[in-house]
Amino acid sequence: MQERLHDNKNRIRNYNGKNYYPFNGKVFCGKCGKKLSGHVQYSRTSKNNAPVKQYRFSCSCPAVKTVNEKYLDDMVINGLRACIFSPENYEELVDKLNAYGKIQERVIDLQIEVLRSDKENAEKRCSNLMDIAENGDGTKSIIDKIKRLDKRIAKIDRRISDYEAAKKVFTAEDIDRIRDRFTEYVMENRNEDVLGFLEDTVDRIEVDDTVRVHLKKNICVDRETKKGFRQERSIKK
Ligand SMILES: [Zn+2]
Repeated sequence: MQERLHDNKNRIRNYNGKNYYPFNGKVFCGKCGKKLSGHVQYSRTSKNNAPVKQYRFSCSCPAVKTVNEKYLDDMVINGLRACIFSPENYEELVDKLNAYGKIQERVIDLQIEVLRSDKENAEKRCSNLMDIAENGDGTKSIIDKIKRLDKRIAKIDRRISDYEAAKKVFTAEDIDRIRDRFTEYVMENRNEDVLGFLEDTVDRIEVDDTVRVHLKKNICVDRETKKGFRQERSIKK
């Protein structure tokens, strides 16, 4: 319950109207510390009058009053991706994924157990009916029943092999695939997992002439990635 309240708070915080701003509440003026907040600019200069999402300063410190939302989000999320999917983390990521896979496997095994007992019952009924048929009492309805049971057993077998196939050992290539979809996933999915992830990783973002991203203390950042978390503002008009 506590967690849900927390999530709802996150949800509200990350929206301004119907627009989503992943870092609302975490972006501050680097000079005076006032918060920036997400808003949409309907630019008169752009050809199709396309709305541009921005984080806007509420103070009068900088000459340029806004930061492009996509620029800021890309910068932070791509940086986070570089941290998480750094080569030294790969082994641990594979292990974590496989630990998760093991839990899934237990769930799958339970399903298979249920199917196996269904199959056993069907086989028993089938063999009883065959005994009756062999004793010469084989009416058409008994033969039809046997056929139906055969079909059912075949169906159960297919489901069991589907479940078996769903058991998986994860490798570094799986981590590659997850890495490739990471940025898109975080930008497009506004669920509790993503918001919780951003909450757990990003401490605060300071903006003035430069953009400086501060991560939570327990996140390791290599030197190359660190450079990406400090950028001169590219000011385009
Ligand atoms: Zn300021």
